[in-house]
Amino acid sequence: MAGTSQDKPGHDEAEAARIFVPLLPEERSVTAPAFEKTPLERYVAPEKPSLVGLSRAELAQVLARADVPERERRMRVQQLWHWIYFRGAQSFVEMTNVAKPLRAALDRHFTLARPEVVAEQVSVDGTRKWLLGLPPAHAGEKPHLVECVYIPESDRGTLCLSSQVGCTLTCSFCHTGTQRLVRNLTAGEIVGQILVARDRLGDWPGAERARAPGLPTEGDRLVSNIVMMGMGEPLYNFEAVRDALLIASDGEGLSLSKRRITLSTSGVVPNIARAGDEIGTMLAVSLHAVRDELRDVLVPLNRKYPIAELLDACRAYPGLSNARRITFEYVMLKGVNDSTADAKALVRLLKGIPAKINLIPFNPWPGTTYECSEWDQIERFSQIVFDSGYASPVRTPRGRDILAACGQLKSTTEKLSARERLALRAMAMTD
Ligand code: SAH
Ligand code: SF4
Repeated sequence: MAGTSQDKPGHDEAEAARIFVPLLPEERSVTAPAFEKTPLERYVAPEKPSLVGLSRAELAQVLARADVPERERRMRVQQLWHWIYFRGAQSFVEMTNVAKPLRAALDRHFTLARPEVVAEQVSVDGTRKWLLGLPPAHAGEKPHLVECVYIPESDRGTLCLSSQVGCTLTCSFCHTGTQRLVRNLTAGEIVGQILVARDRLGDWPGAERARAPGLPTEGDRLVSNIVMMGMGEPLYNFEAVRDALLIASDGEGLSLSKRRITLSTSGVVPNIARAGDEIGTMLAVSLHAVRDELRDVLVPLNRKYPIAELLDACRAYPGLSNARRITFEYVMLKGVNDSTADAKALVRLLKGIPAKINLIPFNPWPGTTYECSEWDQIERFSQIVFDSGYASPVRTPRGRDILAACGQLKSTTEKLSARERLALRAMAMTD
C-alpha cells in the first residue's frame, strides 16, 4: 500500500530507503508535460515508524511480527484500533487492556507519533492553523512542511487537510502549483493531521475539551467535518488518501461520516470513478472555467481531461441525488472568468448534475497576475447562479488575522501565504 508500506518492520532496507530528490527545473521541462511536474520524490520512513495510518490488516501484520498468536490477533487489532483511533492514545503505556509484554514490544519498534506541530496560530474567530513538519529525506535536513486548518462554526468544526507537500499540477492561479518540492503524504501523515487537530483541541473521549470563542457549541465533537482542500491534488496520491479516508470514516475509530468528508479534485478524471467506488466521500470539483480554452490556461490538466469528460465523470459519480450533490468550485478572477455570460454558461453546463456551486474569491499571492473580482461582480455572478436554483454562498473569510500573520514565519512564507486560501475555501464548503 503506497501510504503505509514503509511502516512495515522487516521491510527490505534498500526498498525502504526511498529518497526525495527535488528535480531541477531543466529536468522537469524535459521529462514532464507542461501541465504536470515530474514524478514525486520518495519517502524515507523514520527508523521507528508510527502505527498511525495503519489499516486493520497492517496492524495484524505488525502483531504477527511481534509473535502474537494468530487466534489473539483479531482481538489485539481491535484493541489497538480503539486506542489509536477512538481514544487518541499517544503512548503504548495508556493501553491498559493490552498485555504489558506486548506493549513493551510495540514500544521497542513503533511509536504513535503524529506530524510534528511546528507552529500553531489561533484566530480571534476561533480558526486555528497548524504548520506541520514531516520527516525529511535525510536526518538533519529541514522537515517538509504542510499546513492543516481548523474552521469552527456553531454547529460544526471543519478540518482542511493536505495530501501532498506541494502539487505536481500547475494551475496558474494557485500558489501551491508554483512550488518545486513535491512529495506525497503517507496515509499516516494524512490521518495524523486529524489526530493532531483533535489532540490540540482536546477532542478525545475523556480529554479536556478546548473552550474558546468561536468553537462549536452544538454536538459532541469539535472536529466534525473533513475537507481534502489543503496542499496537493488528492487524486494524484490516490492510495494514501483512500486509506486515510477509510480510516477516518471507520465507525469504530474516528467515525467521521463519509457525508461529512469532501474530497476536492482539479479533475483527475480516471480517479474520480475510482474515488466513487473505493472511497465514497462527497466530491468537490475545481471547475473555474466554462470553456476549454480558458480552463486549459487556469487548470492545465484540462488539456488532458477536458470539461466534457470531466462532467461525464461527475454525472457517473455514484450515489448522487439532491441531498448528495457535487460541489463545483469556481474561483472569481477579475476580467477572466467572472462575466455574467460566464455565470449563465456555468448553470447551463451543470444542468442535470446534482450540484452546488462554491464561488471562491481569488486569494492573491506575490507574483500573481490575477486579481480577485470586484465584490459587485461576485454578487451579480452569485445572483445568476442563485436564480437558477443553486445555493451560491460567498462568505466572509475566516481567520484573516492569523493568516495575515503567516508570512512572518521565516522560511515558510511562500507556503503559508499560499495557504491563506485554505480557511476561506474550507469555510465556504461547510454550508
Ligand atoms: N488540488 C485540489 C485540492 C486543493 S486546492 C484542487 O485543485 O481541487 C482547493 C481549492 O482551492 C481548489 O478549488 C483550487 O482551485 C482553489 N484555489 C487554489 N488557489 C487559489 C487561490 N489563490 N485563491 C482561491 N482559490 C484557490
Ligand atoms: Fe494543485 Fe489544486 Fe493548486 Fe491546481 S489548484 S496546483 S491541483 S493544489
